[in-house]
Amino acid sequence: MTAYDDGNIFAKILRGEIPCDKVYENDHALAFRDINPQTPVHILVIPKGRYVSMDDFSAQASDAEIAGFTRAVGQVARDAGVAATGYRFLANHGQDGRQEVAHFHVHVFGGKNLGRMIKPVDK
Ligand code: 5GP
Repeated sequence: MTAYDDGNIFAKILRGEIPCDKVYENDHALAFRDINPQTPVHILVIPKGRYVSMDDFSAQASDAEIAGFTRAVGQVARDAGVAATGYRFLANHGQDGRQEVAHFHVHVFGGKNLGRMIKPVDK
């Protein structure tokens, strides 16, 4: 498993070293708007703990952290007004998943019809 790097951009946001457009926070999670939104609603939800990815988080996080994070995702979607109309949450992991920031995060996309889940790709 990749070691956690405290220099990643989301670690800096958690430490308050760089700003974010915060929309929600609880004991275990922080949510803020993506700096480069792909949809009308595009929010990132991150755990406050030092987890690289879903692989790391699912294996190492406590039940309380997992519960707090999961509840944050649902609350963020309700607060953004997309729970009724529908939304997508997505987490990229590692090289094939094209994860850019090595602090586990879920993207919450919504605010329009999102189309099919993924584009067909060459095999
Ligand atoms: P990934 O490809 O790792 O799943 O997605 C990383 C996401 O983080 C991208 O959607 C990118 O726009 C977003 N991002 C990168 N740097 C920053 C930042 O400094 N602030 C915010 N709010 N989002 C960022």
